[in-house]
Amino acid sequence: MSKKEWGSIWFLLKDILRIEKGRFASMIVFGVTEAILPYIGIIGMGKLLDAAYAGTEGRILFGYALVILLGTLILSLILNRAMESFWQKLDYTKDLESREMNAKSFSMDYEYLEDDHVQELRSRAFSKSFFGIRGWFFWHMRYIVESVVSFLFILCLFLPVIFQKREGSGGHYGFLLLTAGLCLVIGLMVWVNYQSNVHFTRKVNEIHNSMDGLNHRKRYFMELLSGAEAQKDLRINAQQNKIDQEIADNCEKLREGQLFLNSLLEKRKMIDLSTTGLTGFLIYLFVSYQAYKGMISIGSVVVYASAMVRLADAIYMFSGSIGNMKQMAMFAGDYEEYMGLKERKYTGTIPVEKRRDNRFHISFEHVSFRYPGASGSEDVIRDLTISFEIGEKMAIVGKNGSGKSTFIKLLCRLYDVTEGVIRLNGIDIRKYDPAEYSRLFAVVFQDFSIFALPLGENIASSSEVDEERVRDALSRVGLGERLTGLKSGLSTCVGKEYSEDGVAFSGGEKQKMAIARAIYKDAPFVIMDEPTAALDPLAECEVYAGFDKMVGNKTALYISHRLASCRFCEDILVFDKGRVVQRGSHEELKDQDGLYKELWEAQAQYYRQGTE
Ligand code: ADP
Repeated sequence: MSKKEWGSIWFLLKDILRIEKGRFASMIVFGVTEAILPYIGIIGMGKLLDAAYAGTEGRILFGYALVILLGTLILSLILNRAMESFWQKLDYTKDLESREMNAKSFSMDYEYLEDDHVQELRSRAFSKSFFGIRGWFFWHMRYIVESVVSFLFILCLFLPVIFQKREGSGGHYGFLLLTAGLCLVIGLMVWVNYQSNVHFTRKVNEIHNSMDGLNHRKRYFMELLSGAEAQKDLRINAQQNKIDQEIADNCEKLREGQLFLNSLLEKRKMIDLSTTGLTGFLIYLFVSYQAYKGMISIGSVVVYASAMVRLADAIYMFSGSIGNMKQMAMFAGDYEEYMGLKERKYTGTIPVEKRRDNRFHISFEHVSFRYPGASGSEDVIRDLTISFEIGEKMAIVGKNGSGKSTFIKLLCRLYDVTEGVIRLNGIDIRKYDPAEYSRLFAVVFQDFSIFALPLGENIASSSEVDEERVRDALSRVGLGERLTGLKSGLSTCVGKEYSEDGVAFSGGEKQKMAIARAIYKDAPFVIMDEPTAALDPLAECEVYAGFDKMVGNKTALYISHRLASCRFCEDILVFDKGRVVQRGSHEELKDQDGLYKELWEAQAQYYRQGTE
């Protein structure tokens, strides 16, 4: 294993020792007792046999047997206790790990979450093992502990035989030479076994990785067929056969992969069996030779013969686990990289000034921005300089891809600018405490999320719900009547997925909820990115008519493709290729040569055609 791989394992071990000391301790006790337990019987039996051969009294023999029994019983109880706590905690370890990874996602800069590499890293680190990465580590560490303790025990058993006094120095050295030769052969077997494990684990990993993609694709298509969502399109366009074929192709490739995997595992097993078998055979020969020469007693023959079986197991277990350590190092590497991602590039500590008058002034000064990973010439926002005061109602229009949503992301500090600076009341926004800064904004994103939680909690974004304010927000977006009709009122669960009494609200209703949530937040800035795309014309009209009332004296930024809906804004920014190319009221812009007039006329013509 490389230095980096050992580094990742060390990172994981430190993490485990920091968080899960108790589990680590139970794993050690489990491994050690499981290794020692069989030797109590083996050694005890040897001693009993020797004593019986030496003609020891029955009473004493009975005492020996009792001691063996008691020792076995006590160790079994310890093992049982350790095993229980090991297994129980192993189930929980994945949940704990997932929660920590979620907390990490939550605290990291938003730009990481949109980054493909980070997404992939997260999904690799997240889903590799049933017990999580730490559980995987525990699993293999337990075998390593067990096999190492087993080795040490066998060594202690053999040491007296190796250093036993023999007649004449020739006989003694001859024996030592024989022992050294035996150790060398065993060492070679262990090395062969380990190399084969490393080789096969790498191959198995490669196949698993290629099967990951296939499994992912298969799951995607399976979910399409099982859910109602996509069925409309599938049925109308008669695409079921195509999707079914995709699934069948994937299943076939997965089956081939699995067969290949099985054949690899078979080969690995064969090498394991032959190396451990050969090792066992050589040691049997060695012990038999000792017995033949009369150097060890009959009881010792029993001890050594049984110990040999254990040794073969221990070799198999150790080299298997060490081989798997390489795989674990890979998972641990992903985990280390993910957990090590910088949380915030610019942390910022200044608290946001609490202003009773809510007067906040925002200015963009020569701001340029390109998404991380994009090449130098791909600025999405170019040298943008604008400012706005609280209380303004501002609309942002422009063609698709002109940078409108990116502008909002920069304003909310989901991304940091590449060049230039954004200031709030004269101070660079990167200097503010991020959590405090984000409290200034209530945003309805185009791809908003409403969760399978009670309606009230969705609007309040918390389990503490100010019911009066939630009702007010819902009635302001036109959901007042709908709320009255709900049997469980604000406790109604959104969606039927997790509650039988849940209500499947329409897309438009959910969009209204997202707007109500923004109203409830009562932040000085309200931003709406295409807030009415899912609304019917009447509902859209309702939202616009009540828009001023809804946002009150707050600053409202409003992105829309429907220019007619922007007319109520005093200030319209026209975006084109990452720049503001025009700014003014609808009345000013509609007669000015430029993009706004072009867009306005195209839409007006469309509506005129519709009415002609
Ligand atoms: P608009 O809101 O005006 O439709 P956007 O701000 O969403 O435009 O997008 C502006 C440009 O930035 C587009 O070319 C889009 O492809 C690109 N873009 C948007 N999001 C990302 C992202 N996460 N990574 C890379 N490029 C992006």
